[in-house]
Amino acid sequence: MKFWSKITQTLTPYIPGEQLNKTGIIKLNTNENPFPPSPKVIEKIKKCVGSQLKKYPDPESSELKNSIANFYGIETNNVFIGNGSDEVLAHAFMAFFKDKKLYFPNITYSFYPVYCKLYEINCQTIPLNKKLEIDINPYLSLDGNIIFPNPNAPTGIGMNLDAIEEILINNPNNLVVVDEAYIDFGGKSAVELTGKYKNLLIIQTFSKSRSLAGMRIGFAIGNAKLIEGLMRVKDSFNSYPLDRLAQAAGKAAIEDKDYFEYTCDEIIKNREWTMSELKIRGIDFLPSKANFIFVKLEDAENMYKKLKARKILVRYFKKTLIDGYLRISIGTKEEMEILVKNIDQIMGV
Ligand SMILES: *Cc1c(COP(=O)(O)O)cnc(C)c1O
Repeated sequence: MKFWSKITQTLTPYIPGEQLNKTGIIKLNTNENPFPPSPKVIEKIKKCVGSQLKKYPDPESSELKNSIANFYGIETNNVFIGNGSDEVLAHAFMAFFKDKKLYFPNITYSFYPVYCKLYEINCQTIPLNKKLEIDINPYLSLDGNIIFPNPNAPTGIGMNLDAIEEILINNPNNLVVVDEAYIDFGGKSAVELTGKYKNLLIIQTFSKSRSLAGMRIGFAIGNAKLIEGLMRVKDSFNSYPLDRLAQAAGKAAIEDKDYFEYTCDEIIKNREWTMSELKIRGIDFLPSKANFIFVKLEDAENMYKKLKARKILVRYFKKTLIDGYLRISIGTKEEMEILVKNIDQIMGV
């Protein structure tokens, strides 16, 4: 198309999981939380719907930033807020990754190579080991920046803090970005290392563990100078990334710690239950610390199609190394029971 700039012509955009909003669909394909947002969040949003919407929101999301800082016991100048963590990631790529090589695992969140294309960043992938884990050895003393999710996506495999610290210590001149989209489902956050390591940036989201995918709230935690770098990019792009409702909702969500802990615990319990049911049936899967399980099947694509025909939507990636797996999000206990029952029927048990 002649009006597309050269860069636009070369882009290969990210494709999110299908959003089929028909009734009766069990949706286990985009790692959304099966629980609704905290009742306090809904109440707060309702209070904010009114004439004040005629005014611009706080460009810095200060109140939300304060609540996040309180939650983690850090300072507000260590927190950056964005419109979903995808936007925070995009700003981080722009702010920090343009001038040298960027390394990430060959199997990981597929948005990373998309941002590299958009921002013309030279990237290189590092293979996972045979067990599809991130082996830290190739990450020690690299000549470029590093990004990976913990737990990794779409494998769900978590990394311990010692391993992350070793990467940080061995890359003093490289920035290490840890995408903790799924950290609240049993992993250990590296936020506590941000005080000690100036080369660490953590990125998190309200979309998964706080049931707010529809609100678009993401944040980063790191050294104040890193946060300042992100703000420079943000304020060169969009001064008001979060609307008034999102700021209020986010604040109410992070302050309702009981609800957060209860829903995360339920999802972990449902995950463990689902894994034990799969194990009984001799179905293989990777050990998950996330709100999804990466399940190995003889014919994953066929299972994906058959489940879809039965109105159960899971995620299938037609990509070498992982095309033998299905990524199944953890839903409610009832949804997981229906899933297991349908797998039995499809397998003819
Ligand atoms: C879901 C996800 C995100 C994006 O989350 P949003 O805040 O909804 O944009 C980022 N990274 C990973 C690894 C994810 O799975």
